[in-house]
Amino acid sequence: MRLVLATRNPHKLGELRGLLAPHEVVPLPDGLELPPETGSTFHENALAKARAAAALTGSVAVADDSGIEAAALGGAPGVRSARFAGESAGDEQNLARLLREVPPGGDTHVAYVCALVAVWPDGTEVCAQGTCSGRLTHEPRGQGGFGYDPAFVPDDLPGGRTMAEVSAAEKAAISHRGRAARGLLELIGSA
Ligand code: IMP
Repeated sequence: MRLVLATRNPHKLGELRGLLAPHEVVPLPDGLELPPETGSTFHENALAKARAAAALTGSVAVADDSGIEAAALGGAPGVRSARFAGESAGDEQNLARLLREVPPGGDTHVAYVCALVAVWPDGTEVCAQGTCSGRLTHEPRGQGGFGYDPAFVPDDLPGGRTMAEVSAAEKAAISHRGRAARGLLELIGSA
């Protein structure tokens, strides 16, 4: 099935192309605007993006809303992960703020969360969620992945590597997005 991905984030597109195969994941056509992320949950935001993309394109649309929750910050930045250091902040600034706000000697437990929603033009809606727990390191390292990956040490991989130091296949096996995608595939099938 052809799935329009309701995102402008090339990293999400790259990861979801692999994770949702054999479905064909295509980018949102240029010029179409997604709604602002005003929801208080990942699910609400993903639903709003997928509904908008399905209505605008007339195709089956999938949206990913995701982020990082820090125990020391009561779950922040959560749905505000992409804008943690300001509306126009980039990955580096958002990560720098997280490392400033979570004390290195305190509770460094973190979790990635991903809500994936598929919406059909006839109104059918399907949702799956995945989480990935880990620890924050104040010594970021690695060149892979994106966002908070250089400082995220997942619990489920050996060797204390950050998510930016593992292969795409290793990330896919344990990540919030990988888990959500496998859940979505169970619901929508892979034909
Ligand atoms: P949104 O879903 O467009 O609101 O943005 C999600 C934000 O969460 C991204 O900009 C990243 O900062 C962060 N994020 C989501 N998934 C990942 C991931 O797999 N690795 C690192 N950061 C992520």
